[in-house]
Amino acid sequence: MRVGIFGGTFDPIHMGHMIIAEQVMDELDMQRVVFVPTGVPPHKDASSVRASAEDRYDMVLAAIAGNGRFVADRIEIDAGRPMHTVETVPLLKERLPGEEWFFITGADEVSNLLSWKDPDRLLEEVVMVAATRPGYDLSQLGHLEARLKNFDRIFPVECTRVDISATGIRRRILQGKSIRYLVPEGVHKIISGRGLYRADGKRARGELLKEERS
Ligand code: ATP
Repeated sequence: MRVGIFGGTFDPIHMGHMIIAEQVMDELDMQRVVFVPTGVPPHKDASSVRASAEDRYDMVLAAIAGNGRFVADRIEIDAGRPMHTVETVPLLKERLPGEEWFFITGADEVSNLLSWKDPDRLLEEVVMVAATRPGYDLSQLGHLEARLKNFDRIFPVECTRVDISATGIRRRILQGKSIRYLVPEGVHKIISGRGLYRADGKRARGELLKEERS
């Protein structure tokens, strides 16, 4: 069985993630994709409001509902500390069925691979799939060739390019703009119902009005 591990902050999970998971799975004939939300999100942009690990996990479950090949794993959330991918992957391989293992990432992440812990060891464990993402040319991966022994274990996959990012979604919410259709419907419901990513932590006005009327 071919399995793709898809790690991410998923803060929140969005249609860009869903599209690359589906298209990479199809292209590489995978039987399963395991979504692995990070437990302690790296504070790339501390100024924006972020969701808890449990909220992010619930959103992942809502996003994958109805797709029999998509599953989620709490390993990094339950660890309660940051985990390096090179540490997570062997643990997942021990506890899940599978023969051939892939790690799904956007091309932007792969071009930063040298800053990951033990990238060459990780590439021994998994084939790293670099899915195309707007603004990140796959030719930008060329600089890795001279630096990584296992460079040939990086496999680019051309996916439909969708310019959606979690940062952009959080920004739109802070600006009071719609994020409908940028995230799966179930994720949209969780975000508006729980008032996630709002500066005041309150639910959107429309949601409150709807509840008042019902
Ligand atoms: P943020 O904006 O907070 O940095 P993000 O949208 O990049 O978040 P992550 O959860 O960090 O989302 O992404 C998980 C993985 O999905 C990463 O490997 C990232 O490159 C990839 N990814 C995210 N959005 C897209 C997209 N629109 N197209 C292709 N790959 C994507």
